[in-house]
Amino acid sequence: MALFVHKYGGTSMGSTERIRNVAKRVAKWARAGHQIVVVPSAMSGETNRLLGLAKELAPAKPNEAFNRELDMLASTGEQVSSALLAIALQSEGMPAVSYAGWQVAIKTNNAFTKARIESIDDARIRADLNNGRVVIITGFQGVDDNGNITTLGRGGSDTSAVAIAAAMKANECLIYTDVDGVYTTDPRVVPEARRLHTVSFEEMLEMASLGSKVLQIRSVEFAGKYKVPMRVLSSFTPWDIDINEEAASGTLITFEEDEQMEQAVVSGIAFNRDEAKISVLGVPDKPGIAYQILGAVADANIEVDVIIQNLSKDGKTDFSFTVHRNDYARTIDLLKEKVLPSLGAAEVAGDAKICKVSIVGIGMRSHVGVASKMFRSLSEEGINIQMISTSEIKTSVVIDEKYMELAVRALHKAFDLDQA
Ligand code: ADP
Ligand code: ASP
Ligand code: MG
Repeated sequence: MALFVHKYGGTSMGSTERIRNVAKRVAKWARAGHQIVVVPSAMSGETNRLLGLAKELAPAKPNEAFNRELDMLASTGEQVSSALLAIALQSEGMPAVSYAGWQVAIKTNNAFTKARIESIDDARIRADLNNGRVVIITGFQGVDDNGNITTLGRGGSDTSAVAIAAAMKANECLIYTDVDGVYTTDPRVVPEARRLHTVSFEEMLEMASLGSKVLQIRSVEFAGKYKVPMRVLSSFTPWDIDINEEAASGTLITFEEDEQMEQAVVSGIAFNRDEAKISVLGVPDKPGIAYQILGAVADANIEVDVIIQNLSKDGKTDFSFTVHRNDYARTIDLLKEKVLPSLGAAEVAGDAKICKVSIVGIGMRSHVGVASKMFRSLSEEGINIQMISTSEIKTSVVIDEKYMELAVRALHKAFDLDQA
């Protein structure tokens, strides 16, 4: 007997018909003699709908009190889908019980809308499993030390599932979604994208952090920290396919490099439209400048990503960096009000219509010329590179947003990712 955590995303839970299918699939696994914990997302569109309602009524300057209510509100989406799945399982003759995060309890810190899981008490879950029940636990949410409901950030049900799998030492965490695995890039943008049979944990971590929304980054971090075997697979196969075939399908995230089946130099391409570029122009080039600019930004809790400083000319330089698009206006205001006056810098300029495109692969460690091939391929398409950032297993470029799809397609082809 093995213990599996199944996570079903919003599309997979999108209608009562689909929930019935999930119930049949889960019942098949339980009847094969396994203990099953299911973590559902809200029905597709529901989280957006709820947050949209809140936006209509939001105060001019949203604060912590508002964020608390957002979590109170958004968490209800998963409560609905979880209860419906329990009902559907019971109708299949399979004993099942659903719990909200706070009932388990899944303890988090108190960072509303982006809380982090701190601990999970598995006693109640184990007792139900040992009594032959399927246990359903709402994704995306937990409870802080003061009993407030918290949520884990968009896409957070992935993280709930992996954290529960880690706490319960599950044999595997199966992430069921609307694609049949992790692809070389988003198949919605490049139809020629290929499914990877395996992907290394490090590559998956980079891809998720660079914008591949197939898995929430924190779920991959959890899987790495606790060595949780994790697989991404389709919930749209017929529910009654052979269980062994299903268990071997999709993409397995591996922890050993030599387990890698595919040894391509570049394994995948990620892209991210969520950033904006900010430049501080005409800055005096002297010690402490980066700290004066970025220190103020960090103190305002704004995360900075790619950073470049130009060569100085006549003792002046330009300094550019990217932030999340949601923080764009706030960062510009902050720089104008607090930093420019004390810095003697000339002006602040910005561009919110940029995107970041990245190539990822552990093969980049042992191959030279990968980045230059990327730059050549972009230049052949006439795409101007505004910023570059590299690490051991990735190279990212910031370009004009309107060339994003063109760049992703060109790179996918240049690195032969469409070839099996
Ligand atoms: P769920 O609701 O099941 O959590 P998501 O929409 O969060 O599903 O994630 C699945 C989607 O991720 C796919 O439909 C696909 O468009 C997108 N995606 C982005 N990058 C990739 C990739 N490299 N491989 C597979 N899917 C990807
Ligand atoms: N329902 C939440 C969202 O839409 C969490 C999730 O689906 O993982 O972001
Ligand atoms: Mg998701």
